[in-house]
Amino acid sequence: MTATSLDPVLLGHELAVREVVRETADAVSLTFDVPADLAERFVHRPGQFLTLAVPSERTGRVARCYSLSSAPGDAPTVTVKRTPDGYASGWLCEQVRPGATLRVLPPAGTFVPHDLAAPMVLAAAGSGITPMLSIVRAALAAPGGRLTLLYANRDPESVIFADVLDALVAAHPERLEVRHWLESERGLPTVDGLSALAGPTGEQPWYLCGPAPFMAVAQQAAVACGAAPRAVHQEDFHSLVGDPFVLAVAESASDDDAAELEVTLDGRTHLLRWGRSETLVDVMLANGVEAPYSCREGTCGSCMCTVVDGEVVQDSTEALAEEDIEDGYVLGCQSRPVGARVVVEFD
Ligand SMILES: Cc1cc2nc3c(=O)[nH]c(=O)nc-3n(C[C@H](O)[C@H](O)[C@H](O)COP(=O)(O)OP(=O)(O)OC[C@H]3O[C@@H](n4cnc5c(N)ncnc54)[C@H](O)[C@@H]3O)c2cc1C
Repeated sequence: MTATSLDPVLLGHELAVREVVRETADAVSLTFDVPADLAERFVHRPGQFLTLAVPSERTGRVARCYSLSSAPGDAPTVTVKRTPDGYASGWLCEQVRPGATLRVLPPAGTFVPHDLAAPMVLAAAGSGITPMLSIVRAALAAPGGRLTLLYANRDPESVIFADVLDALVAAHPERLEVRHWLESERGLPTVDGLSALAGPTGEQPWYLCGPAPFMAVAQQAAVACGAAPRAVHQEDFHSLVGDPFVLAVAESASDDDAAELEVTLDGRTHLLRWGRSETLVDVMLANGVEAPYSCREGTCGSCMCTVVDGEVVQDSTEALAEEDIEDGYVLGCQSRPVGARVVVEFD
């Protein structure tokens, strides 16, 4: 059968799982083999995540994001903690064996420290440790400031990466300090308790990751310890609702229904026709331009870019902080063109 322009395109790449490591009773790490021709696409920055397609007899697949715990440059490794009654995390923790293949979108995400050499505070709870470990590994690979990791868990048995962190502290005692908070000993983290655990941290940036109630408390603790609200960054672990692996290619639009798009990505400029009903990310992907993206539902911020000329209308700006909007950022997956010509740049 001949493919028509309306056939949906399946995005992502099939990667083989090289290694499965059980970290705790509830968490596994999966390391992927990346073939040489994809190596460049799968280079990640510390704090980024992969999006995995988890097979489902009910829906075909579900898409879920998992932060990379590996150091940039190492084979990509994600760490999955089973969510009570969760479908994908349960499947990944139970079903995946070395040699299995999974469909994966390249690394994405903006939870990446601006300056890895600066002193910073990392506050994690449970599986929120995964992006922090990648950040710690990347920061310790070069000279730089002191890292304070506040790490909350239910009890000693649920501490993911306890040994890895001990070894990193032993190797870099002057750079890394890990301060644990165990619910079994101290109850749930409180603003006062976390502030006391951190001590005065002045203008250091804080990076937060964990369940929503933990991040709310940690956000207040960061400010109480001296951080400006703008210097507090957080990664929100939620489940995607849509399917970012499928791209519905639109019928080619007439001149009236399309704008001229000039988009610069990785130093290359592309000239494309941009149908008014299409989003920026979709029109780029449909034309073989590898736009950075993950959720394609406005929540992850991976496709943040700036409109340097022309205008777009956005369906949602959920992933953008007020400062991002002030700085002129838009979400590529939510942007449709207004007017005859739009010029866009990705950082
Ligand atoms: C940027 C980012 C990074 C993240 N990083 C991590 C990480 O490092 N580690 C980590 O553990 N988590 C991480 N998460 C969270 C992760 O993506 C998932 O949200 C989490 O694993 C829970 O997913 P779940 O499917 O197990 O649970 P849920 O999403 O709670 O599962 C329930 C959902 O699955 C549906 N469902 C149930 N059964 C089926 C079925 N048979 N077929 C289809 N659907 C079904 C239900 O309808 C319901 O909607 C991250 C999230 C984000 C956004």
